[in-house]
Amino acid sequence: MYSKFRFNGFSNETLSSIANSAKKALKDFEFSSFLVGCTFPNSISDDGKQLLRKEFQPLLVKKLEKELNAMADFENPDIELIVNFDQDVLFIQVKPFFIGGRYKKFSRKITQTRHYCFECKGRGCKKCNYSGIITPESVQSLIEKHALPLFECREAKFHGAGREDKDVRMLGSGRRFVLELVEPKKRSVDLKALEEEINSVEGKKIEVSGLRKCSKKEIPLLKAGKNNKVYEVVVLCEKEIDVEKALRLQELTLIVKQRTPLRVVSRRSDKVRERKAKILSVEILSQKKAMFRIEAEAGLYVKEFVSGDNDRTNPCLSVLLENKCNCTELDVIEIKES
Ligand SMILES: [Zn+2]
Repeated sequence: MYSKFRFNGFSNETLSSIANSAKKALKDFEFSSFLVGCTFPNSISDDGKQLLRKEFQPLLVKKLEKELNAMADFENPDIELIVNFDQDVLFIQVKPFFIGGRYKKFSRKITQTRHYCFECKGRGCKKCNYSGIITPESVQSLIEKHALPLFECREAKFHGAGREDKDVRMLGSGRRFVLELVEPKKRSVDLKALEEEINSVEGKKIEVSGLRKCSKKEIPLLKAGKNNKVYEVVVLCEKEIDVEKALRLQELTLIVKQRTPLRVVSRRSDKVRERKAKILSVEILSQKKAMFRIEAEAGLYVKEFVSGDNDRTNPCLSVLLENKCNCTELDVIEIKES
């Protein structure tokens, strides 16, 4: 966003013109802090610029604080203003609002984030029914549906601390995420009320907790975390399960050599990784069905640890049980946050 102001020397008139211009451009936006910077014309000497920074800029800050009824903030401003004295233009950037929290996902039919159509890259085509989207519902969209109207913004970005497959439920205490609301008009939103609204309307599919204002700095921390996870896996075997053999696997810790699974190898580099897996417990559900609780090191592909993925994962439950195994249901029940 930008707006013009009237330059009349480095004077009070210019200060007023800049403040009025900012006020007008921001009239629909709620904010309590701002950061302002100046770019001066090259025709002014370095010493001259230095002097303006020392003497004129503090006056500008003061004027804006008064006129915008907001505080100057260098760390985490709601608004960033650049006053360009070359073109007499004020550039205005409304900073995003970040909500931190956790989500649980109870449905095996929704993805974590919105996936755009591969064909048209979101522009809309026949294949995606001109919606641009191939995931009608996602954790992201279910949260946005309630958050966007309250913040009066059109767009948000979803940042998760890792992700689970669409058909995997996310249970336990949930997974951390940050929702980045782009150019919000409102900021004083009751996040507790938002949380209650999401949970009461979308509670069959997702649940959010601990919603709070957070800073952008949390996003790289979310992404950097390599957390072990505890899974519950329902395993279906081809033949009747050797119960004794299955129960002997309890508390076994394995070093799993895993070559990039066939189902993702087209998108990721094909290599062998080693990950730890510990079988915490085994529960026999029927002759051919058992539930395994597995603690897996970050990065282990659990479905392939069950099946073996055509010998690409070793050891695997198929080999350990001498019985062809497949994962039919998978839940994340705990993310071990270090
Ligand atoms: Zn499309």
